[in-house]
Amino acid sequence: MSFIVGLTGGIGSGKSTVAELFAERGVALVDTDAIAHELSGPRGEAMDEIGATFGNAVLSADGSLDRAAMRALVFSDPSAKRRLEAILHPLIRRRSDECCAAAEYAPYVLLVVPLLVETASYRRRADRVLVVDCDEAVQIARVTARNGLSAEAVQAIMAAQASRAERQAAADDLVFNNGELAELLPQIDALHQQYLELARGKLHVGR
Ligand code: ADP
Repeated sequence: MSFIVGLTGGIGSGKSTVAELFAERGVALVDTDAIAHELSGPRGEAMDEIGATFGNAVLSADGSLDRAAMRALVFSDPSAKRRLEAILHPLIRRRSDECCAAAEYAPYVLLVVPLLVETASYRRRADRVLVVDCDEAVQIARVTARNGLSAEAVQAIMAAQASRAERQAAADDLVFNNGELAELLPQIDALHQQYLELARGKLHVGR
């Protein structure tokens, strides 16, 4: 199995931005959010069960999950979130395993999991945990600009995630992303060199 770096961070910390920089260096990306979208997209593997569980009201015309309808349902019936996750999570886990296994061409895999710190099975799967860290005020500013949400709405999402201190405590490595993109590059380059070495070590031990 490839060497797996689990990448995580709070909403708006810069996970996608950091993941792209690793991808540019030839690292294989396995993104659990992208997998969740694919599973709940048109002809997605989760859609039959989602339709059977929640009915046609949550289906879009193209057969994908109608996210606005699902959000409304979760708002009126909190157990719906748990039932949706019970359908999606095992499929995401299986698909991400398959993608990690298929990535042997790459020097190592970056497995992007927004709730990695909160999810024991992903923590166990990662050989190394990399946390993208930034000030909470920066998270709020970025997400209000990106998604047009209010600061209160972003704070509510953040309150449902691990705290900054909990993520820092779970990290093997940190990328600090408060500033300019240019400040990220040397951090990514240094970590990439370190991971190449660790991945070579794992390959060696595995033989
Ligand atoms: P996440 O995937 O953790 O939610 P993103 O990588 O999407 O975060 O970053 C959130 C937003 O902030 C995006 O619009 C992104 O372009 C922007 N962003 C991230 N890092 C920086 C940075 N260092 N400088 C400027 N903008 C950034």
